[in-house]
Amino acid sequence: HAKENGKNQVQSYDPRMSTVSLERLTLENHIRGALDNKEFQLYYQPQYDTESSRIVGMEALIRWFSPEHGMITPLKFIPLAEETGLILPISEWVLSQACSDNKLLLDQGFEPLIVSVNISADQFTDMHFVSQVERILTHTGLPAELLCLEITESVAIRNLELTIRHLNDLITLGVQIALDDFGTGNSSLSLVKSLPLHMIKIDRAFVRDMTLSPANMAVFDTILSLARGLNLECCAEGVETAEQFKIVSDKYCGLVQGYFFSKPVPLSDLDAFLREMGSGPQEEED
Ligand code: C2E
Ligand code: MG
Ligand code: MG
Ligand code: MG
Repeated sequence: HAKENGKNQVQSYDPRMSTVSLERLTLENHIRGALDNKEFQLYYQPQYDTESSRIVGMEALIRWFSPEHGMITPLKFIPLAEETGLILPISEWVLSQACSDNKLLLDQGFEPLIVSVNISADQFTDMHFVSQVERILTHTGLPAELLCLEITESVAIRNLELTIRHLNDLITLGVQIALDDFGTGNSSLSLVKSLPLHMIKIDRAFVRDMTLSPANMAVFDTILSLARGLNLECCAEGVETAEQFKIVSDKYCGLVQGYFFSKPVPLSDLDAFLREMGSGPQEEED
């Protein structure tokens, strides 16, 4: 069945395009069974707090290990899941897996960590979203303050009134809210001002070339000072080198996430990483 989606218009006479659409079609067929076949896995990327010099959180990032296609990046299958409506069951699985993994770490005696979960547009605007979050927190036993939900500006502006209502309800539950990929989309200062938030994540586009590009550095500084002015926490995404880490921590950017500390890894590897960083269960103490 052809998709009449504006951004993916298929021109059947172009052989290159039909290869792409054929690939999409097979992916689409395979993604339907992926949840039942347990082909999804959550990877976690640690977040480092520059003030306490500790790992204080981790972002959950989904991976699809398909027997037919190998590992598929979320950039490739999330849009497909959105078009097919499969995003809702997948997102629910992500949220509950992330919460139960974090509860497991807590129960094992790790220092409490905030787990961040990326929320898709359809999930966030679903009228049952807040009660879904509440139910998952109750079911997994994870304290609400150890969950952070990441939304992007494009998700937020879909329906601003609904967004603000949902964010307020989520904050009442005790959940944290982060604005992801800030500075990329159609960033608007009035939007940031009107959203109830805890954190802004500065997109890695501004970190990537900051040492070469004074313009990127200027945007980074501006977002950081905006966050400060609005009393929001700030997280630098995509910090890869020691030099970038030194720059962003010298600017007192509160949180740092990126390959410099760790790539996203499976839970078992995160466990080992946390122990190495001294955030593991403290058996010898007291
Ligand atoms: P995001 O939420 O902005 O996640 C950060 C992305 O940057 C991740 O890509 C991560 O692997 C990558 N990254 C982190 N540090 C570095 C670095 O130092 N250098 C570079 N080059 N990249 C770095 P990933 O895992 O491929 O995810 C891509 C996007 O897919 C995410 O961007 C998010 O928008 C979406 N996504 C991932 N997992 C989920 C999910 O469970 N649900 C939904 N709805 N979206 C998800
Ligand atoms: Mg994110
Ligand atoms: Mg991001
Ligand atoms: Mg991104």
